[in-house]
Amino acid sequence: MNRHEGPVTILFVHSSDELYGSDRVLLELVRRLDRSRFAPLVAVPCDLSYRRHLSKALAEAGVRCLHVDMGVLRRRYFGWRGVGLYAWRLALGTIRLARLIQRERVALVHSNTGAVWSGALAARLTRRPHLWHIHEIVTHPVSVRRAIAWMSTRFSCRVVAISQAVRDHLAADAPGHANRIMVIPDAVDTECFRPENDGAALRHTWHVQPDETLVGQVGRISAWKGQEDFLAAAAQVAVRRADVRFVVVGDVVPGEDDRREYLRARAAAQGLNDRIIWAGFRPDTPQVMAALDLLVLPSRRPEPFGMVLLEAMATGKPVVAADHGGPREIVVHGETGLLVPPGEPTALANAIVELAGQAALRQQMGAAARLRAETTFGLLPYVAAFQALYSDLLEASAPW
Ligand code: UDP
Repeated sequence: MNRHEGPVTILFVHSSDELYGSDRVLLELVRRLDRSRFAPLVAVPCDLSYRRHLSKALAEAGVRCLHVDMGVLRRRYFGWRGVGLYAWRLALGTIRLARLIQRERVALVHSNTGAVWSGALAARLTRRPHLWHIHEIVTHPVSVRRAIAWMSTRFSCRVVAISQAVRDHLAADAPGHANRIMVIPDAVDTECFRPENDGAALRHTWHVQPDETLVGQVGRISAWKGQEDFLAAAAQVAVRRADVRFVVVGDVVPGEDDRREYLRARAAAQGLNDRIIWAGFRPDTPQVMAALDLLVLPSRRPEPFGMVLLEAMATGKPVVAADHGGPREIVVHGETGLLVPPGEPTALANAIVELAGQAALRQQMGAAARLRAETTFGLLPYVAAFQALYSDLLEASAPW
């Protein structure tokens, strides 16, 4: 194949079929690629019973997407027996992807998240340039943390980290190879998330009065995202202010329903039943952000990025986030929101009370937040940065 004949095919190998952070970023990128130059083909796994939100959205955007049985690094493989099973699935996935690369005459492979390794191995087998897009900060087990840093820097022409925090974390485990890691911060669709969006209908559905302050956490329900700290803070706020309501948007990973039920029981025990809304997963996050007065992200471990912060900010809402990881790069403390010490519900409660009581301050911070989202985290430069990178890698590689 001659690279000047038409668009070159890029294979995106992704680790899930949901619509959370890394899924959304991939969707936004591939749907905006210049189709006269790049033809995206996306491979998603089928090892969990996903509701297939991403593959459906890709189909709607006219992007080809295939479900491929490939090994995805998951916690259930951490252990001696799991390692063997993972290695077997990884090998099979690699062969499947290598065949796909040959059949579809793929020119470049882009692995999306550190949890998919088959794409990197298949690219090496078929001698295609490979880019690894790392979206996570894995701290333990240490062997997995090191393995991701080792693999990503040895099996890629370039590693793209979604924040400086992710880059620093990877680089610490890849001495001598850190020059391969660059940062392209995630970006937000500022046309879709806008201050003009109307959240009134959703507030009405949730029975939230116009004069009540609605504070929400949006994202996957998991131990490290800190929903438990949000509930503990909510319980403190509830006794200090009668006009604040809370909403938890998002759901657990398939198969972890116990965690949701545990949190609901905790909220009930804290007397929050009349004050809290359990919204489940919502595909309409632009409306969700518009319905909120304040977004919180009290993650217990450092967030690799924190897309929900940007989405709220682009909607003109102030945010309160745990002061570590990606949020430090997104939130300007005291200007576009507040940063609070991680794992301290009282500090979170104080920040919520401070902003709940000051509509003018919320408005002022929201306006600054919108400006920051537009000027620093826009999608156009984001897509342009990836396209430039693809061109560089294709230019540098031997004819495939
Ligand atoms: N999200 C969604 N519906 C929900 C909860 C979350 O569409 O019910 C989206 C949210 O809009 C954001 C993403 O999931 O785009 C979460 O990204 P973030 O970086 O905050 O967290 P991650 O999922 O990557 O850990």
